[in-house]
Amino acid sequence: MKFRKIIKNTVIFLAISSMLLGCNNVSSTDEISTTNDISTETVENQEDNQENLVKEDQTKENIETKTYTNEELKNDKINELGKIMVLMYHSIGEEESTWTRTYANFKKDLNTLYEKKYRAISLNDYASGNINTEYGFTPVVFTFDDGNENNFSVIEENGEIKIDPNCAVGIMDEFKKNHPDFNMTATFFLNANPFNQDKYYEYKLNYLIKNGYDIGNHTIGHNNLSKIKDSNKIQEVIGKEISLINKYVSNYSVNTLALPFGGYPKEDNLYKFIEEGKYKDIDYKNNAILLVGWDPYKSPFHKDFNSSKIRRVRASEMNVDDVGLYDWLKRFDENKQIRYISDGNPNTIVIPNNFEEVLSSTVTTKNKEIIKY
Ligand SMILES: [Zn+2]
Repeated sequence: MKFRKIIKNTVIFLAISSMLLGCNNVSSTDEISTTNDISTETVENQEDNQENLVKEDQTKENIETKTYTNEELKNDKINELGKIMVLMYHSIGEEESTWTRTYANFKKDLNTLYEKKYRAISLNDYASGNINTEYGFTPVVFTFDDGNENNFSVIEENGEIKIDPNCAVGIMDEFKKNHPDFNMTATFFLNANPFNQDKYYEYKLNYLIKNGYDIGNHTIGHNNLSKIKDSNKIQEVIGKEISLINKYVSNYSVNTLALPFGGYPKEDNLYKFIEEGKYKDIDYKNNAILLVGWDPYKSPFHKDFNSSKIRRVRASEMNVDDVGLYDWLKRFDENKQIRYISDGNPNTIVIPNNFEEVLSSTVTTKNKEIIKY
């Protein structure tokens, strides 16, 4: 029973993880659902309905009309209720460590994901279910916490600003050039000193927005929100970061947040101020709130998807306890974990019949057509 083995490993990991997660302590164990997900989402007994499906072109972006038979959808394992990895990176550097990925390994991650038919999407698109990943490919989300200088560093030579080719942005820009179909993008979660080099704050933040990257909130002081019991203080540490970012990119909406240390208050009456609040003249609403975590998270069309508590996968091979990026890639490859595979059309949701029961009922309100096979 291979499934049993995975389940057992996962449980063991959960016990160990809280000791090892260092910078990002898992503060919640109330969301351990991996075991269930693996066993209940196994594809079996699929009905083989042979009717042809004509997908209608309803997108504003004018996506080509394509016809797929149920057989094709089944063979290509199209499933928009499968799981999606939100990858968590911290530093990029010369030596691998728990919170540092080397340049070479980061490039390896990008190449591996590309070859295994993953394609990047933005965190906001994931959270809102606006997924236009091409047919047969799996969306993946990139995130970087802490705004380390090695995420985005610049070198000035003779008055000309150059991006360090070995920082995260330099590596992703290069990858983008050579793999335009990967749709490279990432969200950078920042604190009080975005990428250091304060002389270049304005340049860097504007560069990110102009080049298709996103900026998210990691609180002004990397605050552990599980320890703040005052709603005004919560709104202050979130609002101050938005105020800082908007000083340099004035009309950019900062609407995603990664919880420092994965910490959050258990009380709902405090948690709601992480989701939405006000500080001085700043009103904010976070469309996606990220925990740390250990597994790929649910499809945005899954009935239990919670955009306020999205778990991430550590993009590392060190101290990952069988639940790092490569462990999940392997499970997806072996079909022990069901991966989201796109139908190529953001306006339709294609699912195998046996997934029907986990389909969110709010999907209908999003004006999407459901196609079952
Ligand atoms: Zn952090």
